[in-house]
Amino acid sequence: MDRQEIENYKKAGDIAKKTREYIREITKPGILLVELAKKIENKITELGGSIAFPVNLSIDDIAAHYHPTLEDNTKASGLLKIDFGVHIDGFIADTAMTIDLTEDKRHKELIEASEEALKNALKIIEKNPTLNEIGREIQETIEKKEFSPIINLSGHSLAQHTIHAGITIPNYSNGNQNKLNSGAYAIEPFATSGEGKIYEGPSGNIFSIVNLKNTRNSTARKLLEYAYGKYKTLPFSLREMQEKFGNFAKLALRELEQAGIVHNYPQLIEKSHKPVSQAEHTFIKTSEEIIITTKQD
Ligand code: MN
Ligand code: MN
Repeated sequence: MDRQEIENYKKAGDIAKKTREYIREITKPGILLVELAKKIENKITELGGSIAFPVNLSIDDIAAHYHPTLEDNTKASGLLKIDFGVHIDGFIADTAMTIDLTEDKRHKELIEASEEALKNALKIIEKNPTLNEIGREIQETIEKKEFSPIINLSGHSLAQHTIHAGITIPNYSNGNQNKLNSGAYAIEPFATSGEGKIYEGPSGNIFSIVNLKNTRNSTARKLLEYAYGKYKTLPFSLREMQEKFGNFAKLALRELEQAGIVHNYPQLIEKSHKPVSQAEHTFIKTSEEIIITTKQD
């Protein structure tokens, strides 16, 4: 990793830290998810960052990949996971938090389970652990609190303009004896009172370009040009395209999906429909040190 790269990762992380604080201030029960999404993404831009992917606003048993459409009337409630990404020149800070919006704060311990798992995993990173040891730390922390980790969701390596760069950091002891080379990584434990597995549900209104080729429909072509110009192969939201292109956005995206040009991300839903909490931070590992870029010290 060269100096410029490290600087960009840190800068993206600083913006993510400030955005995390802002999210804690504005996330109240009853706010429309679409308002929350706009505010968070505007904040990132105001602070000088670019959006690495649409903010995920996933409630209760939806573990990840939900983003409201423009007409969505869903309000913030229950157990809300807020997962967002900031990038500077493609160098990404990926971070998430869970907020309990129930009146009786019934999810306190479930939130603590994923937060502690993340904290403990980040603590042992300094000792150059194997992937199995990281996963075991996460699993044991969550199970000690009598919850289950979600085993088919995981942390990951990051690379320029790439959110999932090939290496998987497990949320359970999976036997992998590999260690982490220098690079950028996100650790993201998910804890649940359910079975601990997710399945792919309906569309979460998040898309990315997977095969840039021509399309005859002129709205679809305009949308594609706009999305590629702004995001390249990073994910973008239906909501933003609705703001930009109006009612045709939905149809255009469906057409682009059918033509194999864009990928539609499904919502990731807990199998037994029990609530899920998540915590996530990004760190960079250089030849000298480990820096957790998104964590306030
Ligand atoms: Mn994330
Ligand atoms: Mn991530």
